[in-house]
Amino acid sequence: MALIAVVGTGYVGLTTGACLASLGHDVCCADVDESKIQRLCSGEIPIVEEGLERLVLEGIASGRLTFVVGAENAVRSTEFVFLCVPTPEGADGQADLSYVEAAAEEIRSLLPRDSIVVNKSTVPVGSTRVVERVLRRPDVNVVSNPEFLREGTAVHDFLHPDRVVVGADNLEAAQRVGQLYESLRAPILVTDAASAETIKYAANAFLATKISFVNAIAAICEGVGADVRDVMRGIGYDRRIGNEFLRPGPGWGGSCFPKDTLALLKIAERADYKFDLLQGVVDVNLQQFDRMASRISAVAGEGGTVAIWGLTFKALTDDLRDSPALEIIDRLIATGHKIRAYDPTVKEALRGYPEVVVCDSEIAACKGSNVLAVLTEWENFRWIDPADVLDHVASRHVIDTRNLLDRSAWRTAGFTYQGVGR
Ligand code: NAD
Repeated sequence: MALIAVVGTGYVGLTTGACLASLGHDVCCADVDESKIQRLCSGEIPIVEEGLERLVLEGIASGRLTFVVGAENAVRSTEFVFLCVPTPEGADGQADLSYVEAAAEEIRSLLPRDSIVVNKSTVPVGSTRVVERVLRRPDVNVVSNPEFLREGTAVHDFLHPDRVVVGADNLEAAQRVGQLYESLRAPILVTDAASAETIKYAANAFLATKISFVNAIAAICEGVGADVRDVMRGIGYDRRIGNEFLRPGPGWGGSCFPKDTLALLKIAERADYKFDLLQGVVDVNLQQFDRMASRISAVAGEGGTVAIWGLTFKALTDDLRDSPALEIIDRLIATGHKIRAYDPTVKEALRGYPEVVVCDSEIAACKGSNVLAVLTEWENFRWIDPADVLDHVASRHVIDTRNLLDRSAWRTAGFTYQGVGR
């Protein structure tokens, strides 16, 4: 079993640390955010992530999982350091590597001989070299190990990966990192650093392409009277296409796809390739936000109040970063609408959105509204009885951008109902 430090305890870092500890490794997680570390030390989980609390509590109890403030306090006697710091969209759409570089600089002189720095943050091709240059430690290898977990099912995804990718110019170092995952019995792809880094962007771009494709087909379905759900079922049975990621929706968002597609466009530009296909995928997504917002706006009427169910970028997470719901809210505010919103994980006013009234229940959000818009696929919305909503709304209209609700039940209750692509 290995001695591991994890730098950055966000969605990826905390999941990585808790899961590696559950596999038997000794893990010390570090963050610059003191209050986050304080909460973690007392077993309090700062994010919503299924199964994570149990793993963290077990890790703390077994003594295999500890938390400290500052990377420098985690790395002194470690064999592997996982960098799980943010790589937000920087100037021009390129990934901003400053957090990665700063973390590398902090640990540079403290790393034990022959330790390995593992880059789990999503970084552009060539970043392994950037970290090597910052470290200036020929005795320390840098390995790329991109993460493919999905928020909401992060623990499950980490412990049951479809594959583990490790890339380095030093094959032995890459293999040592691969061995940390051996007990997961997943295929381990060992490759060079540039390929590992490209795999992560290619995977996210491909998934975003699938969703934009579905949303485009959904628009056609609406025009020709087809039902996109059956169309997707019909193509998903084809194993060359597969069933996953074939649901239409309000557009894709979240903390990864928007920034990673833009970063890949930049990478392509620098590689002298005009990636028109991916640009089209991004454009279709922006059109989808516009289409959904104008659909809601048209039904709400001028200055009308919109009740919104769901703010997070997907169900089962509390993450609002680049959420499609916020994209649509931006457009609705710009066209003069009032917004009342409910999300099971959002209890306080939305930072940056003073106009949005955050309510404490689905029904409260509907009070006096001219249209109800479902923007996140939280399962509990499906089970709300439309009869309970009737008396609270000013007009009976539903726009279900997730095709989540029971259309006939809402129509029977007297609502007009519009889904996506049907
Ligand atoms: P996050 O913002 O949730 O967490 C990052 C953490 O790093 C924060 O807690 C921050 O305080 C901490 N941090 C920043 N600088 C630090 C430093 N110098 N020392 C110690 N801690 C520091 O980010 P995230 O969503 O976990 O993403 C991290 C990386 O993983 C990004 O590159 C992202 O693209 C990639 N990724 C994310 C997901 C996802 O679903 N969130 C999936 C795969 C890959």
